[in-house]
Amino acid sequence: MTSPAAARPNPYFPIGQLQCETDSGIDTIPLALEQSFPSWQTTIPERYRGMDAEELTRRIRNARATLGDKVVILGHHYQREDIIQFADDRGDSFALAQYAASHPEAPYIVFAGVHFMAEAADILAAPHQQVILPNIEAGCSMADMAAEPDVHQAWRELGELYGGTDDIIPVTYMNSAASLKAFCGANGGVVCTSSNAKQVLEWAFTQGKRVFFFPDQHLGRNTGAAMGIPLDEMVLWNWRVPAGNLGGASEEALQGARIILWQGHCSVHQRFSLTQIEDARAKYAALGQQVQIVVHPECRYEVVQAADANGSTAYIAKYVANAAPGSIIGVGTEINLVARLAKENPDKTVFCLDPVVCPCSTMYRVHPAYLAWVMEELLDGRVVNRIQVPEHHRKDARVALERMLALK
Ligand code: SF4
Repeated sequence: MTSPAAARPNPYFPIGQLQCETDSGIDTIPLALEQSFPSWQTTIPERYRGMDAEELTRRIRNARATLGDKVVILGHHYQREDIIQFADDRGDSFALAQYAASHPEAPYIVFAGVHFMAEAADILAAPHQQVILPNIEAGCSMADMAAEPDVHQAWRELGELYGGTDDIIPVTYMNSAASLKAFCGANGGVVCTSSNAKQVLEWAFTQGKRVFFFPDQHLGRNTGAAMGIPLDEMVLWNWRVPAGNLGGASEEALQGARIILWQGHCSVHQRFSLTQIEDARAKYAALGQQVQIVVHPECRYEVVQAADANGSTAYIAKYVANAAPGSIIGVGTEINLVARLAKENPDKTVFCLDPVVCPCSTMYRVHPAYLAWVMEELLDGRVVNRIQVPEHHRKDARVALERMLALK
């Protein structure tokens, strides 16, 4: 609540006094003034910490121009504007990884996103390409909810319960560690994105009787529901429950389960609520207007059910772009993307459903000072913050990704 950025009113938030420190999202303050900097990557050299927006922009542009085709900068949809402006391509994690792989002339891929995204880019990259994550502390809270030992433990328990795992197909969302993608690859499973989750689950049910879906329970449940699977046939596995207790589920429930859902979630999307949708509809109805609601499938089941449409970030962007001029659209996804969509569609009213939502806090850690640092290191021939997936994981993770690609 103390940064200069937070002090400015934000047009996308109706309740100004409840803004979080990063709500403005588009203004750059020196890294040292960022409230959370002490918990970010502090090994960045001292000289970058006090640089203002102007100096950082100039340095990144200079480095970019000098490096030319040698570097590709990727910007995830949820990145702040002061990073997105430098991106050669912007999109979701999978599209960006594919973009990097289609530019083999660039030996360096700077991924302005979070850890699992850089891993995915490394898995798909050519051997001579090196992937760099500007701030090594930029992780993903959802991906962190599925730790490899916990998933292995659950797999063992499920195998004991069902008398084997041949009939269980593990499916991991793109938003997971490379080690879990590898786990899926090694066990007849597959990766999915928020765009193709339904298609992937349909394939999985041709391969086995049950699906073990991680780490996002909401994407798994919403997709299963869209396929007509009853809610009571989708059973939650709570990884916080001590080992040996079937993730807190009953044997009976698991025997009837078609999808076993890992109890993970996105801290950004889980904030959206049914009340927010009802409030938005009531507010505009009182004005004699109608609001359309579009949300991401990482939102809770009841939120997705109450929305007019749901889909990936690319789907949401298209939904807003294709809406008729004058449309009023309430969006349930990360604020940097919503704010960008509002700017790019000035003929429509586009707003974030959550009046107090903060940006993805780990994505926000990619401050321009980190980008300037890694780019200037490249000018001197040094690679810092390289993300390299171990070979034994890369091989199996690629299998899981290729199974997904083969479905297209
Ligand atoms: S928006 Fe959610 S799923 Fe995406 S990186 Fe942030 S915490 Fe992870």
